[in-house]
Amino acid sequence: MDANIPISEKKRVVIVGGGFGGLKLAQEVLKSDFQVVLVDRNNYHQFQPLFYQVATAGLEPSSIAFPFRKIFHDEKNFHFRLTDVKNIQTENKIVETTIGNIQYDYLVIATGADTNFFGNQRIKERALPMKSIAEALALRNTIFQRLEDAINSVNEEERQKCLNIVVVGGGATGVEVAGTLAEMRSFILPKDYPEMDFSKMKIVLLEGSPRVLNAMSEVSCVKAKEYLIKLGVEVYNNTHVLDYDGEYVELKEGEKIPTKTLIWAAGIIGNRISGLPEKSDAPGGRVFVDTFNQVADCENVFVLGDVACMISDEYPRGHPQMAQPAIQQGKNLGENFKRIFNGKPLKPFKYKNLGSMATVGRNKAVVELPNYNFQGFFAWVVWLVVHLKSILGIKNKFVVFLNWVWNYITYNLSLRLIIKPRK
Ligand SMILES: Cc1cc2nc3c(=O)[nH]c(=O)nc-3n(C[C@H](O)[C@H](O)[C@H](O)COP(=O)(O)OP(=O)(O)OC[C@H]3O[C@@H](n4cnc5c(N)ncnc54)[C@H](O)[C@@H]3O)c2cc1C
Repeated sequence: MDANIPISEKKRVVIVGGGFGGLKLAQEVLKSDFQVVLVDRNNYHQFQPLFYQVATAGLEPSSIAFPFRKIFHDEKNFHFRLTDVKNIQTENKIVETTIGNIQYDYLVIATGADTNFFGNQRIKERALPMKSIAEALALRNTIFQRLEDAINSVNEEERQKCLNIVVVGGGATGVEVAGTLAEMRSFILPKDYPEMDFSKMKIVLLEGSPRVLNAMSEVSCVKAKEYLIKLGVEVYNNTHVLDYDGEYVELKEGEKIPTKTLIWAAGIIGNRISGLPEKSDAPGGRVFVDTFNQVADCENVFVLGDVACMISDEYPRGHPQMAQPAIQQGKNLGENFKRIFNGKPLKPFKYKNLGSMATVGRNKAVVELPNYNFQGFFAWVVWLVVHLKSILGIKNKFVVFLNWVWNYITYNLSLRLIIKPRK
């Protein structure tokens, strides 16, 4: 069965995934005379760097999600289909999806990455990941449900398990979520639950390597850890999770931490789609591509963003799995489609490192620009401005800005809602 997509005389570019890379690419390709078919398992683009604020009740999901149909509603040559891609037949130029087959002239896979539980099924079943808005909302529900459970519990040990939150993974996501939870414990929760003693609530951050924010410089790592400790987060480095039964986190180092809330931010794995040649298999679920994002021995198949692995002297293990490489690859490939259209040679991709940053709490952030590192209040302001600028849509920018200002002044947003269907 074929999916119902209008036939066109124009060449068809099928883009799988409307994340940072796929979205930028679609916008660029539409500047040339192609038919663009964007498929995604969600009907919206998600701004992943602010998931942790949805999870900790700082922002509404709608302020960091953007419906594809709204973004492209003025484009005649654009078609969106909500579906999951299952397989690719490169020899027949067909994408197999849950709504039927889609024929392509050019295919671009921009499916990003998912949470990596490193094969531990028990952890996968019980821990809470944060790789989609739906998961961030599920996390928000769990955090506030556990607090309701804690206040109802007369058993000291049970109450402690409900109160404690363990975050695994000391990358930017783990650091940001742990820092925000610690601030919430100090400034918000005691007002909401005056009967509860929050000095007993533990926020624990576990990291396998010797430093948090391991991908950043020594000075940023040290500062971020200092900020976390100041906020009252218990930070354990060189610590590895062995198992989790829903009640206790068991560490390889022997200790057991009681908690009913385990947040997993410890690793990602590429969303590779089956049907590509075996020799394109790269470590971490990624796909080897050349400097034009093209897959070897597959006619007109390109891969970009988190799921792509482009080896170079500067990046022998591929580019960092962050927004900028995805956006820049999307832009370069989009411009290459213009060259394809005009019969010109393609331009190789060159990554321009714009730096990296992470925030730990109010007035506390670390920023690394190519030639300059700084921390503290100014870094925090830079973090706010960069993220605000990157959010799509004027209304969303305005809503996020208002939320931040209100939160900064009052320490008290009213988003601490448990929203789920009745069982
Ligand atoms: C919590 C969190 C915080 C982050 N913070 C930062 C940050 O501060 N700075 C930074 O630079 N990076 C950050 N990142 C990483 C950044 O978001 C990714 O590097 C970036 O999104 C990669 O872009 P992409 O286009 O490759 O994939 P994505 O943006 O992940 O998009 C992939 C798209 O493909 C769709 N998809 C996947 N599989 C299928 C399928 N089989 N069928 C149909 N559709 C499919 C998905 O629904 C999604 O829309 C963060 C990530 C997370 C999870």
